[in-house]
Amino acid sequence: MPQPPDMLQITPTAAITARQHGSRAKCLQRLVRLDLPVPLSVALSSDAVRRLAKGDMPDFQALAATFEAGDLLSVRGSSQSADWGGPGAVLNIGMNDAIAARIATDHGQDAADALYLSFIRAYAVDVLRLDEDLFADPITPRIAKLQFEDEMEEPFPQDIVSQLTEVLRSMARAWEGTTARLLRQAKGAPADAGLGLVVQRMALGIGRGETGAGVVQYVSADTGEAQITGRYLPQSQGRAALSEADAQFIEQDPRGIALGDRSPDQVAALREAGRLMRQRLREEMQIEFTLMEGRLAILDAVKVPRSARAEVRIAVDLAQDEVITRSEALLRIAPFTLNQLMHRQINPDGARDVLTQGISAAPGAATGKIVFSAAAAQAAAAQDEACILVRRETSPEDIRGMHAADAIVTERGGMTSHAAVIARGLGVPCVSGATQLQLDMRKKTLTVPGRKVFHEGDIITVDGSSGEVLAGVAEMIEPNMGGAFATLLDWADQTRDIGIRANADTPEDARLALKFGVDGIGLCRTEHMFFDPIRLTVMREMIFAEEAADRAAALDRLLPMQRADFTELFQLMQGKPVCIRLFDPPLHEFLPGDRDGIRALAEALDLPVSRVATRIEHLQEFNPMLGLRGVRLGITMPEIYEMQARAIFEATAAATSAGNPVLAEIMIPLVSAKREVELIKDRVDAIAASVRNETGQDFDYRLGVMVETPRAALRAGEIAEHSAFLSFGTNDLTQMTYGLSRDDAGRFMSPYVNQGVFKEDPFQRLDMDGVGELLLLGAARGRAAKPGIMLSLCGEHGGDPDSIAFSREAGFTYVSCSPFRVPVAKLAAAQLAVAPTQTLSDSDI
Ligand code: PEP
Ligand code: MG
Repeated sequence: MPQPPDMLQITPTAAITARQHGSRAKCLQRLVRLDLPVPLSVALSSDAVRRLAKGDMPDFQALAATFEAGDLLSVRGSSQSADWGGPGAVLNIGMNDAIAARIATDHGQDAADALYLSFIRAYAVDVLRLDEDLFADPITPRIAKLQFEDEMEEPFPQDIVSQLTEVLRSMARAWEGTTARLLRQAKGAPADAGLGLVVQRMALGIGRGETGAGVVQYVSADTGEAQITGRYLPQSQGRAALSEADAQFIEQDPRGIALGDRSPDQVAALREAGRLMRQRLREEMQIEFTLMEGRLAILDAVKVPRSARAEVRIAVDLAQDEVITRSEALLRIAPFTLNQLMHRQINPDGARDVLTQGISAAPGAATGKIVFSAAAAQAAAAQDEACILVRRETSPEDIRGMHAADAIVTERGGMTSHAAVIARGLGVPCVSGATQLQLDMRKKTLTVPGRKVFHEGDIITVDGSSGEVLAGVAEMIEPNMGGAFATLLDWADQTRDIGIRANADTPEDARLALKFGVDGIGLCRTEHMFFDPIRLTVMREMIFAEEAADRAAALDRLLPMQRADFTELFQLMQGKPVCIRLFDPPLHEFLPGDRDGIRALAEALDLPVSRVATRIEHLQEFNPMLGLRGVRLGITMPEIYEMQARAIFEATAAATSAGNPVLAEIMIPLVSAKREVELIKDRVDAIAASVRNETGQDFDYRLGVMVETPRAALRAGEIAEHSAFLSFGTNDLTQMTYGLSRDDAGRFMSPYVNQGVFKEDPFQRLDMDGVGELLLLGAARGRAAKPGIMLSLCGEHGGDPDSIAFSREAGFTYVSCSPFRVPVAKLAAAQLAVAPTQTLSDSDI
């Protein structure tokens, strides 16, 4: 196939592709095809730009010769997806003494000086990276040129070819910089993403009559609703109108005259251009335009920059207006975008204990424990603990910790600091520039003048929307996700072909999950029901019982509590499946770790402290995660599982007799041998039989196995014989496949990922190669032994689009993830059903 040329004039028929020349060049070609008044433009391919970055210069003479002598030029970056960022525009290239003199004659000295000065500044500071202060106000072009000459030891270049060469080279290099690369990769760009460039004849925006520049769009960037938004500034260039308070409105200006009052035809032409673009480019576009003595030129159009909320609204509106299909609307929203619509806010009417105010760098609010390093953030995330990463400033090595944190606070930096930019990209609340905070990274303390010293582990709240950092927890308001969000999820539900359940342990979790319209509960970790203080005490009595009879007495008290838990869950879920996992963690997790706790427990149990301490010691294990937990508890202390099974069945019988039949699913954790399943199954079946007898109520249930040890995956065939379903617990399966503690991995994950030992943190992204192979092997063996056995995935990976793709391909019935991940998972699943291997195409703008 012939390679597309390096430099192409943008005409209706030129061979311009988004892949080679970037989305801006492609879009300009579409505008040209729509007969819109676009100034002469040339597209440079990303191959040419790549070579340029390495010092291999294209034919600049030929490029300059495309334009007329005396033309001023602009250059804009043109990456394949506009979301990937890129260098800012450079305007007025070609400006020199002669042209400045001409402009002075035609339009006056002030206009000429302003243009010349702004170009010298841009060239010196943005292109050659000279010190900004050298060119700060007040200054004239003459002084600016002298400053330039002083620094560079050569005069300010007068020749358009040398100016253009430097501009293009600096843009090419900026694209290759580490921060730019990390930023775009965080937004999904491939490692080898290229940058095209567009060189365009300037429409000056400075001159006689109705001359100036403006920007307009026809939807709100915040909400996506139809609404004309834009500004126009006479005698200006580029996007200057957006930053001037007295710039004019486009159509009607309550403050006075709008552009439309003076130039109705041009404003109508702009509106028509917006309508045409919406219809034919199938997108809401923001239009950059100039008027030159009343003549309209459209310089550029980009997808309207938009909030996540607007993104969803625009896609849904376009589909409802049949400009795009519903499938396309589903494909247009990156699943993680939905997280931003679901951000919590701090209740403005609630109490706020403000510690300090910084810059509101990324919206949303979160409460969590303070951590001072990326590794600590990863360790907290591995334990499902919310954390706030507090740093002096962040650097690229912190990215993984920033992913893991619930919010980020930095002492230094501003809106465009590393932390701010990355956090916004990730949708993590962030306050930057909180300069009142005094951090001592060695002692791991955070001090605010006049307040107590905060230590690692102390709880704070971050309000990324207001820039405030608060002490302790704050009352939150759940986000409102009505309207377009609900419509989009509706469409996703109608489209997807894999079930999405939620990991929900409590009625609150279940309510949240139901709000997102889940298909059921895929994992109810019953141990989380015992953390309430009253239950904890009874639980401890049970653990401390040395005689079976004492244990039975404690369990008798726990039974009605568990029955009430399940009754409530069944009621809430209204017949949707609820998969309940029998007790899993090591018992000592329920015991106090310090002296005070031991003394309190001794009091509660009416035992001597020494006896309590000895018993705790007795229960300690060297490696509890590989010790007496999961089904091993069920085998050695059968009364616990018997109590849980009875509670489940009594709740099932009650719901069934009340006319609300439920199909309870009971799941056995940490299985590694078939015999474990046989033993538990015999007991659970026996309890079901006695509850049926006692209540006279028939009911059904399913007993299944959680596959989370490598041996369970390998022996899935024989395990399946006794199981109605297999649910892959990829958290433990990842831990055990790698021999990697999920609680300690944060300590070394960053160097491991940075040095490429692991491509990703396998606790965040499913390891398709290793753990994935075990999943496929377990699924195949399970199915061979019992065709039609229900398979699913319920580790934290369940909400990750890649894992959903994997699970769908493997024919799993559902994935289960935390409630807040459900919308993301639904959208990802719908996208897979529409286009299993969708890649960017030339139709992407
Ligand atoms: C798992 O191991 O994948 C799982 C879901 O269980 P837990 O996280 O409770 O160990
Ligand atoms: Mg597990």
